[in-house]
Amino acid sequence: MTITQERPMTYAKMRGLVSYFSALLKGKKARLSDFLHKLVSSQQLCQHLDPQKNLRGRSRLRREEEEKGTASSAHTETSQMKPADFDYLKVIGKGSFGKVLLAKHRKHGGYYAVKVLQKQMIVKRKEQRHVMVERSVLLKGLQHPFLVGLHFSFQTPNMLYFVLDYINGGELFYHLQREGSFPEPRAAFYAAEMAMALGYLHSLDIVYRDLKPENILLDSEGHVMLTDFGLCKEGVAIGGVMHTFCGTPEYLAPEVLQGQPYSPAVDWWGLGTVLFEMLYGLPPFYSRSKAEMFENMLHAPLQLRTGVPQATRTLLEGLLERDVSKRLGESRDLVELQEHPFFAPLNWDDLLARKVRPLFIPKVTSPCDVSYIDPEFTLQTVPSSVSERCQAGATSEAFPGFSFMNPAEYVASQPVS
Ligand code: ATP
Ligand code: MG
Repeated sequence: MTITQERPMTYAKMRGLVSYFSALLKGKKARLSDFLHKLVSSQQLCQHLDPQKNLRGRSRLRREEEEKGTASSAHTETSQMKPADFDYLKVIGKGSFGKVLLAKHRKHGGYYAVKVLQKQMIVKRKEQRHVMVERSVLLKGLQHPFLVGLHFSFQTPNMLYFVLDYINGGELFYHLQREGSFPEPRAAFYAAEMAMALGYLHSLDIVYRDLKPENILLDSEGHVMLTDFGLCKEGVAIGGVMHTFCGTPEYLAPEVLQGQPYSPAVDWWGLGTVLFEMLYGLPPFYSRSKAEMFENMLHAPLQLRTGVPQATRTLLEGLLERDVSKRLGESRDLVELQEHPFFAPLNWDDLLARKVRPLFIPKVTSPCDVSYIDPEFTLQTVPSSVSERCQAGATSEAFPGFSFMNPAEYVASQPVS
């Protein structure tokens, strides 16, 4: 199959022209969220917050931590962290419920990305569940070379705070927009690192589900880092199914779009869309018309350029397979991808050990460099509300048990006797 139309303009220009889509992808996610939620409630697909389930999950996590002998006392509402522990330097991103800021720890001097969410907005949109899922997913003690790490979470009466590693190489798609597309070895490297992160999450019964351009960051060495666990779905074993409908339309798997139950294989579809976009500059099934794009995603044949190497073709066709039972990764997850000829040149052990040298290394001069962050954010004034002068630990019924300190940080923060 062939793409008959020459790519008439760069990805960025195309996006610029399609203002509707720009609105969806840049900054107006509220509308997207509202749209999705209307859709969701009309189809009655969204699962609702089950406080009992959340509580059960939390106590299980605590038990697990205790069994492991880690500093379980750190998992308390009386976390020592508070907003005033940080100097907030720059706005570096915008999420659905607040901003992401570059912050410096006043005492230790380390730089972090602090995601600040407004409770009022979350409660208004009935999104407590997603936020608590994000926190509990991060609390699972995820540690992977290609996943952003959480150091602390804490709350004030009005805000929730996630303190994350600051990843300063820019969004992967910031670089893609500038370059139009990536040569195959570079795209393969990013796809492989993402695949490893996704396989790791699946092994913990977590579906990432939100693989999309703005959630894929590059670190200062040029490795991939997945951020944003807001829409992750916990407790889905491979072969299991979920029924919640959320995500960004362009990257949604057809089964999600159709409101059918779905499995970790949605992430392999997501990886297929991102790989396609890295190679060709636009997502597969793309159309300026939203309705047409949905239609294409559900029914149109996947169009690949003539001359696409056989391994690339079969990988894309395997990942972007609408029949989930035939989709690459559906039965043996990551292993199926690792065995695919497209990745044959890769040594997966070296990749996991971060020994494979990235083909592009961001030019960052310091851990607080913001040169790869969109000036749309960095030029904004840091809102004074984020450094609310109040003690941490003030709880809210909507977010019980939110505060968290990474066990390693807890141990490090204790005075040496
Ligand atoms: P959700 O989908 O849960 O509502 P969100 O999309 O609102 O989350 P994030 O994706 O977590 O929020 O963050 C928004 C933006 O901030 C990201 O797209 C990214 O550009 C930037 N960002 C997030 N985390 C980091 C980080 N750890 N380091 C650097 N930049 C980050
Ligand atoms: Mg996001």
